[in-house]
Amino acid sequence: MCIIDVHTHPVCFREGRSRAAVDALVARGRALGIERMVALGDVLAFSRSQTAAQVALINDETALLLRWHPDYFVGFCYLNPTLGERAVGREVARAVGRGFRGLKLEIANNARAACMRPVMAAAEVHGLVVLQHAWSMTKIKQRAFHTDPEDVATLARRFPNVRIIMAHLTGCGVRGVLAAKSCENLWVDTSGAAPETGLMEYAVEKLGAGRVLYGSDLPVRDLPVAIARVTGSALDAATQRKILRDNARALLQLP
Ligand SMILES: [Zn+2]
Repeated sequence: MCIIDVHTHPVCFREGRSRAAVDALVARGRALGIERMVALGDVLAFSRSQTAAQVALINDETALLLRWHPDYFVGFCYLNPTLGERAVGREVARAVGRGFRGLKLEIANNARAACMRPVMAAAEVHGLVVLQHAWSMTKIKQRAFHTDPEDVATLARRFPNVRIIMAHLTGCGVRGVLAAKSCENLWVDTSGAAPETGLMEYAVEKLGAGRVLYGSDLPVRDLPVAIARVTGSALDAATQRKILRDNARALLQLP
């Protein structure tokens, strides 16, 4: 099995930073058939809305993973858009210089917020993929900073030239699939809560096999569980191969 995982946090809540821990993760990933991992950073470290220095530290740690294992990790740059255009521009410039291939947004702000404009402009200029956290929420008071599937769809419609990944198929659910359906520049990753029977098949039916990407959200979900969401589905082998590897390879332009 050859897998590209588009959603991992090798460093999570300050854990997993040592060279030994990272080496062990790479060895375990390879043993499970995972040939590449997209490292998104320790995105909830410190708070949900970090200072510029904290954002820089999170991305420095991702850069270190790439230096240790350049053939394994793909870097995405974590951003706090609420810091403003200059701070975003500085961090994106550093990321581009380091060979990062995408931008990661979490819960500093809702994806519909005006502060996303310079983020998306930078993504378009540099050809970076944007991975936006999303979840089908019932806590409506958190909507100011929490992004629901419809918010990601709004973002995708506002910036049709940017390729966007909506995180957490199992979490966004049927609602998320329907929100993403009409946006050709929107992909969905398979991470999220516990696996749900039929959801993977539903996503492929509505979005097509090309817009679903395997993601684990490691260490939030362990790798065998995350892989089995796909391999335990009723999807045929060719479709599973697209989800597990081929779609990510094409989207991230990996060799
Ligand atoms: Zn995540």
